[in-house]
Amino acid sequence: MAIRKVAVIGLGLIGSSIARAVAERLPEVAVTGHDASDDVRGVARALGLCDTIVDDPAAAVADADLVILAVPVGRMADAAAAIAPGLKAGAIISDVGSSKAGVADALAKALPDHIVIPAHPVAGTENSGPAAGFATLFDRRWCIVTPGAGASGEAVTAVTSFWQALGAKVDVMDAAHHDMVLAVTSHLPHLIAYTIVGTASELEEVTESEVIKYSAGGFRDFTRIAASDPVMWRDVFLANKDAVLATLQRFNEDLTALQQAIRRGDGAKLEDWFTRTRAIRRSIIEQGQDDAAPDFGRKH
Ligand code: NAP
Repeated sequence: MAIRKVAVIGLGLIGSSIARAVAERLPEVAVTGHDASDDVRGVARALGLCDTIVDDPAAAVADADLVILAVPVGRMADAAAAIAPGLKAGAIISDVGSSKAGVADALAKALPDHIVIPAHPVAGTENSGPAAGFATLFDRRWCIVTPGAGASGEAVTAVTSFWQALGAKVDVMDAAHHDMVLAVTSHLPHLIAYTIVGTASELEEVTESEVIKYSAGGFRDFTRIAASDPVMWRDVFLANKDAVLATLQRFNEDLTALQQAIRRGDGAKLEDWFTRTRAIRRSIIEQGQDDAAPDFGRKH
């Protein structure tokens, strides 16, 4: 399945990064972009993103071999319905949503006669909007493709090859398993960061200015994640409710165990736990999923 034309719907961080990466890595592929926001389309035009930016979503997907929906998870159904009248027969529709089972259902319902191959590039930053994207965002990051039962092998290969061409490594898995894995590796960490940053700013004994002043003690590392897009993350938690609640239950049990170890003065338990977590950080570095530079490479 040759991909000669790609349409990107939603030109924020992820959509604009896809447009930039295609321009750089697949210059022979034409890219059309659309965003629901007039302002975003204006910024995208000013930045020179895509070969064409189109106001109408159905017109944006005309002749596209691959359409990628890069809108918040809660807007996928609307975006799919809006492009439906313009899709050519045989076009592949994919997305980049951070949760997969709910999005797959929404896309299958909105586009019953089309080929839908959902995907999730596990790459991002805390920034959003068209100016925040960059062409190397997907380099050496994983992209998880979650085809439904009976999906065409040819279409899965086309989506896989597309992401590999943008620099990503690709895994294929079941949508429900994706949602459980990402609940642990992404959604729970975001929930914890949102909690801790909110809690710290509302303490009575410690002022907010002290929290900010002494944030290098660890707090500031949570603030990067807690600065992530509120709309995107609202939708992720609503969409991946079951997996997040199951993981949160386990987290609460482990937190209680550590609380008990502190109360009982059980230093051995704490040290064992922290030794295991340090090894996990080292594995992440060894596997090229983060930089080994101390303190995240901050300049001192
Ligand atoms: P973003 O920067 O906020 O961009 C989303 C864009 O989509 C916005 O410009 C938004 O416009 C537009 N939009 C909303 N509804 C639309 C519709 N129906 N039709 C066309 N455009 C629409 O968000 P993002 O970070 O790129 O996230 C996009 C998707 O990628 C989400 O599903 C997210 O879960 C997934 N993802 C994000 C990350 C990350 O780290 N950010 C990583 C991997 C995957 P308005 O602002 O006017 O609504």
